Amino acid sequence: MKKFALLITLLATGLAAYAGPVSKHGPLKVTGTQLTDQTGQPVVLRGVSFGWSNWWPQYYNPEAVHTLATDWQCSVLRAAMGVEPEGAYLSGPKPQTNLVTTVVEAAIKNDVYVIIDWHSHGIRTDEAVRFFQEMATRYGHYPNVIYEIFNEPVQTWKEVKDYSETVIRAIRAIDGDNLILVGNPHWDQDVHLVADDPLVGFDNIMYTLHFYAATHKEWLIERGNYALKKNIPLFVSECAGMEASGDGALDLESWGKWLHWMETNRISWVCWSISSKEETCSMMQPEAGPHGPWQDNDLKKWGIIARDVIRKMNRERER
Ligand code: MG
Repeated sequence: MKKFALLITLLATGLAAYAGPVSKHGPLKVTGTQLTDQTGQPVVLRGVSFGWSNWWPQYYNPEAVHTLATDWQCSVLRAAMGVEPEGAYLSGPKPQTNLVTTVVEAAIKNDVYVIIDWHSHGIRTDEAVRFFQEMATRYGHYPNVIYEIFNEPVQTWKEVKDYSETVIRAIRAIDGDNLILVGNPHWDQDVHLVADDPLVGFDNIMYTLHFYAATHKEWLIERGNYALKKNIPLFVSECAGMEASGDGALDLESWGKWLHWMETNRISWVCWSISSKEETCSMMQPEAGPHGPWQDNDLKKWGIIARDVIRKMNRERER
């Protein structure tokens, strides 16, 4: 009996001592260009993105979230909800929404941040407003949740800006404070256009910059620097080490430069992606199970690189 009581005490102490990134940092706030936590300290989130929900739904499960939050030490995960392709949100909102909410609820349980990503290239304002109204109503009171309202736009900044204003207003009518990520033209590479003509009148928004290190080199880092100098807060919600197609050879020298740039500027970053297509950026081997935990031989080279650097940095720098 005594032994049993001791075990219970030890377990309770262990649970009480466990504090994940959200318990530690609380609600996120944008201060100047910096993401800060509930005490006003800078915070850098590091994690991975799930692949397109319509093509890789098997990974959108609580066990995978648990593995990524604990074994991989991710402090942020991204649910990339496909919008336009056949079988994605527009052709069946309910199943895709369910995949997102499965990941969101597991992220809340595992005490990590989670990005709800409208993974679209086209503008679908009415549908996006309805979706984010639903998400804000369900999850706007959780500090875990981050809204990414437009993955990679291909329109003009004027069009993206108009869309963003409408969707942000819809979210803010329900949830006044959670972080919102805003896209920009050319798949989130035109942050210089944002810098010259940013959104006004909104708090707690950041702009997304996406890079693929074998394609995007110093010129895009320079655009990032230009934006930062003009007080534009940046969040790298998608990045990887190969070409922009997601395939081709890894350029680890360029990847290292980007990593250095993000860490020096304390910019949060999310690696693409948890999927198992025959391409360099898919982290999983096709025969790997969808639930985790995953061994090294379940992962492709990019998966091991991403996992190891996230794990190392989040351990060393305290996630
Ligand atoms: Mg809120």
